[in-house]
Amino acid sequence: MDEILIDGSMGEGGGQILRASLALSMALGRPFRIENIRAHRPSPGLKRQHLTCVRAARELCGAEVSGDEMGSRELSFVPGPLRPGEYHFAIGSGGSITLVLQALLPPLLTAAAPSRITVTGGTHVPHSPPFEFMALTLLPRLEALGPHIKAKMERSGYMQIGGGSVTVDIDPVPKLDVPEGFAESDASPPFLGTEALIYAHNLPDDVAAREQETLMQPGFAALGLTKGNIRILNQRNNPAPEGQGNAVLLILRHGQFYTVFGETGWRGRTAETVAGHAANRALLFLKRNVCMERHLADQLIVPLALAGGGSLITETPTPHCRTCLEVAARFTGLRAGITPIEGKRSRIGLN
Ligand code: ATP
Repeated sequence: MDEILIDGSMGEGGGQILRASLALSMALGRPFRIENIRAHRPSPGLKRQHLTCVRAARELCGAEVSGDEMGSRELSFVPGPLRPGEYHFAIGSGGSITLVLQALLPPLLTAAAPSRITVTGGTHVPHSPPFEFMALTLLPRLEALGPHIKAKMERSGYMQIGGGSVTVDIDPVPKLDVPEGFAESDASPPFLGTEALIYAHNLPDDVAAREQETLMQPGFAALGLTKGNIRILNQRNNPAPEGQGNAVLLILRHGQFYTVFGETGWRGRTAETVAGHAANRALLFLKRNVCMERHLADQLIVPLALAGGGSLITETPTPHCRTCLEVAARFTGLRAGITPIEGKRSRIGLN
C-alpha cells in the first residue's frame, strides 16, 4: 500500500497528529511517514511520551519503523498485523499514560482477540486527559460503539517523576458501529450534580483546603459542591505515588453521562487558579448545553473514522479537533465537515 505523507506542522502541530496517525495506521494497515513532528511546540520532535507511543505501536503490530529516537522530527511506520494480547509499556517519566493509550486503544477495539495493556507514567499531567476523564467520559462513549473496556488506576503519578500505573482491558468487536443518536442530540440531558476529587500528594495541607474552599465559592454554587461531595486524596489516605502532585477533578453528571473537568497544579500556579479553572470550564460547559465536551470531541474522531464515519455536536471545535479531522480524512478518504450551529456549538463529522 502507498505510504501516506503526514505533515506534523499542520494545524495544531502537536503530538496528537502522531498519535492519531499511529492509531489509524495500525487499524487500517496503512504505512505512513510523518515530517515536522510537533513543529509548533517549544521543543519539537519526539519526547518520551511520543517515543513510548511509537515503540508500543511497533510491538503491538510488529511494524517496521525508522526515526524512533528522542528528538526525532521524522518517522516512518509500516504496520504489520495486529497482535492483541497482554502488554506492559513504561514511559519512564511523568509523560501522560492516557495519551499513550490514545494511540494504542483504537486499533485494539476491533482486534481479533482481547487485550490487557498496562502503562506506567503520569496519570494527572498538564494538557492531557486525566485518568478520570478517560475512564468516565471517554470509555463509555467508546463502549457505545460496541467493545467492552475496563480501566483501573493502580496508582496516580505526576509530572517529571511519574510512577503512576493504569491497566486497560479491551474486549473487542469485529466492527465498530455508531448507534442511532450517538451524538446527534442537540442538547445535553439534565444536569444531575457534581462531585470533586482533589489529589494533593506530598504537598502542604493548605493546597487541598484552598482548592476545596474555591470550589465552594458562591460564584460556583450552580455546581452544587460542598464538603460532602469533595474528596481529598493524599499520601495519608491513598497509596502514595512518588513525588508531589496536585489535580482537581470535577465529575459532572448529566443524564447517564459523566463529563470530567481536570486541572493540574504545578509550582507557581496557585491552588485558587487550579480549582477556579476547573470550575469555570464546568460552568461554561453547562451554559453551552451540549452533550459532548470539546476534548471528548477530538478524542472521538479516530474511533468515528474507524467506524466508517459519523458526526457529533460539540462546543466550538478546538484546533486539536480540526487537525484530527484532517488526519483521519487523509487515512480513510472520508470527508471531514464542521458546521456551526447556533449557541456557539458545531456539528463535526466524517462521511
Ligand atoms: P505536544 O503537543 O506537546 O506534543 P501532547 O503530545 O501532550 O503535547 P497534544 O497534541 O497537545 O498532545 O494533545 C493533547 C490531548 O489531550 C488532546 O487529545 C486533548 O483533547 C487532551 N486533553 C488536554 N487537556 C485535557 C483535559 N483537561 N481533559 C481531557 N482531555 C484533555
